[in-house]
Amino acid sequence: MLKEIKILKHHGKQYVKNLRNQPVSGLFRGRPEISDNLTGHEIENLFSLCPSGAIGSSDGSIDMGKCVFCRECSFLLPDKIKFTSDFRIAVNRREDLVIKPGVSSPVRIDESGIRKEIRKIYRKSLKLRQVSAGGDNSCEMELNATGNVNFDFGRYGVEFVASPRHADGIVITGPVTENMAKALQLTYEAVPEPKIIILAGTDAISGGMFSNSEAVSRKFIEEHHIDLFVPGNPAHPLTFINGVMDLLGIR
Ligand code: SF4
Repeated sequence: MLKEIKILKHHGKQYVKNLRNQPVSGLFRGRPEISDNLTGHEIENLFSLCPSGAIGSSDGSIDMGKCVFCRECSFLLPDKIKFTSDFRIAVNRREDLVIKPGVSSPVRIDESGIRKEIRKIYRKSLKLRQVSAGGDNSCEMELNATGNVNFDFGRYGVEFVASPRHADGIVITGPVTENMAKALQLTYEAVPEPKIIILAGTDAISGGMFSNSEAVSRKFIEEHHIDLFVPGNPAHPLTFINGVMDLLGIR
């Protein structure tokens, strides 16, 4: 018994105490900040360099819903574009993912746009079914990590479940391939009302690098109300966790 206690003491506390304010690795790429001094020539270069069409051709803004966070733009103009360590970038309005030059304020959820029943019903318990709709397993791994001993999102009652019939909503990863379109629709239909839809990762939000592929079908995304957009390539567990906490009104 003493031996076990010694081991527990040695391990210490593994969980992240404050999920809102946890330092992340210096390699992490979060909310971008863009100089408002971009020249027309620089915007042109950035636009042709970006592999996913995330950079606006008129003003040099960055759409985090399309960005694959490759950092090529910041390598080209290190004095004018940087990626901060701010991981709180999930929003409920698609347009709020577009970061304009000269803007350095944090990205926050639009409280007025949250459906009332979400907080009323799911504030203390939210079960989610994950649907990998052509995903590459990167976002899926990060979503798995939200439930591990470090992030322990289960402390707020948020967990992934095996069946959509036991779920309150779905989390979609991947660009939604034609082959997965029907399975996604059937999974969604099996979730009882009112149901939440969360898009996790660039591929789910915009199709990412595969947006023009014939193998991709975006019909489901276009036809349904999306409750939360979680950007990232892949989405970081803290981005997902903080986005869901904001959606549910957890302080
Ligand atoms: S980091 Fe994003 S915006 Fe910059 S080049 Fe890569 S995909 Fe484009």
